[in-house]
Amino acid sequence: MSDCLFCKIIKGEIPSKKIYEDETVYVFEDIEPTAPVHYLVIPKEHISKLDEITAENSGVISHIYEVIAKLAKDMGLKEGFRVVSNCGEHAGQSVFHIHFHMLAGRDFGWPAG
Ligand code: AMP
Ligand code: ZN
Repeated sequence: MSDCLFCKIIKGEIPSKKIYEDETVYVFEDIEPTAPVHYLVIPKEHISKLDEITAENSGVISHIYEVIAKLAKDMGLKEGFRVVSNCGEHAGQSVFHIHFHMLAGRDFGWPAG
């Protein structure tokens, strides 16, 4: 997707603060953090949003959760953390390349706002 912001970040056309990268996943700092730790975890493959996950592309999603678990362990997030993926406009999705917000370093309220 040539006009996708996160595809451009993956290609290095737009700068980002990289936290982790492997063959299929890229992790970087959110530009407007809402918690002391606020990472965005994205697949390198362009998937627009959560309701486009299928049997064919879900492998990268399970890998994303492995990466999140490893990062949490490496960072020592023993107090806990939150993972959020907003799907669609009612949920507040503003960038249409699927992403998982990884949030930590403070208490989080529930239910979600
Ligand atoms: P969402 O609103 O769930 O679609 O999340 C999109 C996130 O992308 C927001 O938290 C933004 O702050 C973040 N964001 C937008 N542009 C950039 C950028 N250039 N670099 C890093 N994060 C960004
Ligand atoms: Zn994209």
